[in-house]
Amino acid sequence: MTTAPSLQTGSPAGYDAIIIGAGVIGSAVAYNLAKSGMKTLSVDALPAAGYGSTSSSAAVIRTYYSTLDGSAMAFEGYHDWKYWPQTLQTDDNNGLAQFIETGTLVMKTEANNRLERVLTHADALEIPYEHWTREQIVQRMPGYNLERFYPPKSMEDDAFGMPTGGQVEGAIFFPKGGYVDDPQIAARNLKDAAVRHGATFLFNTKVVKITVEDNRVTGIVCEDGSVHSARVVINVGGPHSGKVNALLDGDAGIKIRHRPLRQEVVQIKPPGSLGYSREGLLVSDSDIACYVKPGSGGQLMIGSENPPCDDHLEEDPDTFHRDLTDRALAYAYRYSQRLPELGVSQHPVGVADLYDATDDWLPIYDRSDVDGYYLAIGTSGNQFKNAPVAGRLMRQLIEYCESGRDHDNDPLQFKLNHIDHTLNTATFSRKRDLTQESSFSVLG
Ligand SMILES: Cc1cc2nc3c(=O)[nH]c(=O)nc-3n(C[C@H](O)[C@H](O)[C@H](O)COP(=O)(O)OP(=O)(O)OC[C@H]3O[C@@H](n4cnc5c(N)ncnc54)[C@H](O)[C@@H]3O)c2cc1C
Repeated sequence: MTTAPSLQTGSPAGYDAIIIGAGVIGSAVAYNLAKSGMKTLSVDALPAAGYGSTSSSAAVIRTYYSTLDGSAMAFEGYHDWKYWPQTLQTDDNNGLAQFIETGTLVMKTEANNRLERVLTHADALEIPYEHWTREQIVQRMPGYNLERFYPPKSMEDDAFGMPTGGQVEGAIFFPKGGYVDDPQIAARNLKDAAVRHGATFLFNTKVVKITVEDNRVTGIVCEDGSVHSARVVINVGGPHSGKVNALLDGDAGIKIRHRPLRQEVVQIKPPGSLGYSREGLLVSDSDIACYVKPGSGGQLMIGSENPPCDDHLEEDPDTFHRDLTDRALAYAYRYSQRLPELGVSQHPVGVADLYDATDDWLPIYDRSDVDGYYLAIGTSGNQFKNAPVAGRLMRQLIEYCESGRDHDNDPLQFKLNHIDHTLNTATFSRKRDLTQESSFSVLG
């Protein structure tokens, strides 16, 4: 085990680092810091790891992003999920989340510019893919109607559901992809791995203040009045991350906006005759702005790729309601344009939760303007897959900054473990301008 520079406060009760949030990313950060020899405390307001927005995640593992670094990080993460016991450094497979490797099929559409840029990244990173014709698509997904419906429309639009002429021209199949069967268990696996390295977790405990002296973080105060000191505090508060920043006795210096945006995912069981199963394909279809994930019992989960016609709805993470609305119904009807036999219920079931979305849909993995206060936030509905990588990145970033390096002017270059690529972490800066190559959607 390598040992990080000691960040001890000298107080016997002091921690090297306090992590606010024990979702999949917070637990991955705790695991990596504890593994490096740091004494960590994770604090979460909920009863167990992964109970926050992680529990609602579709947990799709895909490797296509609009930026090269985004694709590289996702391909790195794919390897972590594929070899999950090794990632956790355990021989015991009991109770581990499972990675179901279905491959992912992405339709070539106007919205994604027929994947031209994405394939350039795939070539550069040696991510395998195949071009599929319409015939191959329908062979693999019987009953799939390939008429064009682009651009996606809201249900109020008279043209909703009307074909717009021609057909989707084909798709790209990425064999290295799939989904994790239980995102909450994945977070718990990371938390258990952290505990094996000596990490401490406090649940049902809300942080109400982050203390600062001379522009250096000193620790946290919890709702029960307990005080915990540390020279490093990391905000991994998911949709609450803005509220967590507001607890800081100082300004984190974040330039790019991030906010909690409502998301709904609808679950439908298609007719058995269509042959959908847990091992079926994951599909991204930007012609109808839907992504579709197979699930257990032949269920399909249908989510949105955030087309311009759908408003972004910002909600308070403490009070938002979890009932599905007409949004979910719209996604189901959009997908029924592809599968007319789907059978959409007027009372859809599924999940409603929040993304902590930045304006360019890329995360913020960064230091802040207050020394010792770090950010793993703005995960924009697309960072479950990157959680193990984000854990390693945050560890290196903290070591880099705490050893006196000027990350804002000379950003950490983060070498990936599984693939031959070095990430310029300026990509994830809190001070960045909008990333123009972004899809400006959950696709990142
Ligand atoms: C509907 C949905 C679908 C998604 N699908 C995908 C997908 O298919 N693929 C993908 O890669 N990503 C996906 N994502 C995104 C991914 O799930 C998230 O990026 C990831 O789970 C965020 O993890 P986290 O640990 O940062 O946050 P969370 O899991 O939200 O954890 C944050 C934790 O912080 C705690 N907390 C907050 N404030 C405080 C406080 N003051 N004191 C103490 N504790 C506090 C909360 O209780 C919570 O447990 C999806 C997200 C959603 C909502």
